[in-house]
Amino acid sequence: MIFMIMALFILAVVIVWIFDVHTVLHLKARTQNAGDAAALAAARWQGISLNLIGDLNILQALALSRGDTNASEQIKNVQARLCFVGPLVGLLASQQAAKNNRAYVNPDYTANLLAHADLVLSYYAADTNRFREPYSGAWPEYGGMLANIAAQGVAAGPDNTWYFTDSTDSHWLLSRNFYEAVAGLDWCWFYWHGLTTLQSYSDYQYWLDLPTAQPSPNTYNCEVFGLGLLPFTDVLPYGTNDVEHMNRLRSDRGISTDTISNEVAGMVCTWYGYAWSAWTALAPTNDFPMISDVKPEYDYTGADVVIRVEAQPDSRMPTAFPALQPFLIKASPSSGARLTQAAAVAGAVTWTAAGKPFGYLAVDGSPVRPDAYNLVLPAFHNVCLIPVDTATGSNAGAYDLAWRRHTQDHLPTYMLSGLAGLEADCWYCQQMQTWEDSAFRQQGIDWLSDTNHTCTPSEGGPGQHGGTRRGH
Ligand SMILES: [Zn+2]
Repeated sequence: MIFMIMALFILAVVIVWIFDVHTVLHLKARTQNAGDAAALAAARWQGISLNLIGDLNILQALALSRGDTNASEQIKNVQARLCFVGPLVGLLASQQAAKNNRAYVNPDYTANLLAHADLVLSYYAADTNRFREPYSGAWPEYGGMLANIAAQGVAAGPDNTWYFTDSTDSHWLLSRNFYEAVAGLDWCWFYWHGLTTLQSYSDYQYWLDLPTAQPSPNTYNCEVFGLGLLPFTDVLPYGTNDVEHMNRLRSDRGISTDTISNEVAGMVCTWYGYAWSAWTALAPTNDFPMISDVKPEYDYTGADVVIRVEAQPDSRMPTAFPALQPFLIKASPSSGARLTQAAAVAGAVTWTAAGKPFGYLAVDGSPVRPDAYNLVLPAFHNVCLIPVDTATGSNAGAYDLAWRRHTQDHLPTYMLSGLAGLEADCWYCQQMQTWEDSAFRQQGIDWLSDTNHTCTPSEGGPGQHGGTRRGH
């Protein structure tokens, strides 16, 4: 009888376990679908917005051609608004896409967006010297739109949101990679990013001061899914070449039958151009996570989106078993769903996905980058998912709320008072505790002095160390 009871008990545990595996895998697939769909929807709206702003550049040239200053002013105003409205429609579309794929509203994300809307309405709007309005009345309008979107519930967090108050500087303590290197004993990360710090670190006073926010940020672009544009008031950068190209696009797209005259080339006006750079320049240390070369016509960075979706598994396991869940989720190699360290503690499934609009301009039958003329022109035809590490983003990590709390609340007190300033239940603070232990650092110094020849830059890919921070 005792044997039977034991056997039945084991059987019961196995059944519950299998059921749980199924639930978690199902949830993982659902979270991934929701995140990917949301990223594609938002990136599509970035492409649409860029094409509209490009069409308006052509309409601007037509207005100048006709000498219609009234239309010219209105076009400028519409372009400035589109830089905000376009990406926000993308945010709205991404929420719909995530919800259509059965992602639930995340109360933390919703509260975060609502709080930011309040900040725009109070803080930004009150200090328009520092937060310059791209058009008059921009902040009340922008804050209102954010609040409206938040009111419908946020399911997919816009993870590469770049707040105007976020710093652009880099600091180890503001790099998630540092904490993950500590947690994963990834000594090669220290080998590549600053062996001196590992060797000569003493205590919290060793760190350079945390960077403070920029005095006056570029406020032409929306914080959420910004297009990376830069209006400039000047003559056309490529003169009559620009006019010729605009005339070609004008007739191809059926915008107007009038011709833009060459005189426009010499007229000073406000045009919308790009503040973009080479995509591959995101990772100058040769660890851009792509196996083959990026085609030159696609090698631009600027507009892209990163989405974060979280879901909580509804576990049937007794309380002793949730410890298994991170293992279960990590154990499945077929999909790249990955627990962020902070979420792993809570047992949540997190999926991050990145998307980007692609396109090119045709010059003499061959494709060139959309920013080849440094003038926004309608050039975008497609959207793709891209590896998360090849997307732009702020160090502050917009919708990784545990990380944001760490950088905003815990680090400043740590910089003042060292270990006493850390929070016991914050995963990042726990890594700081580990790092502060000189025996821990000595372990790394010893390992590297023996085996540093094994530190080779990774080509990237799911689950590897080096170039990639997240699985894709
Ligand atoms: Zn912390």
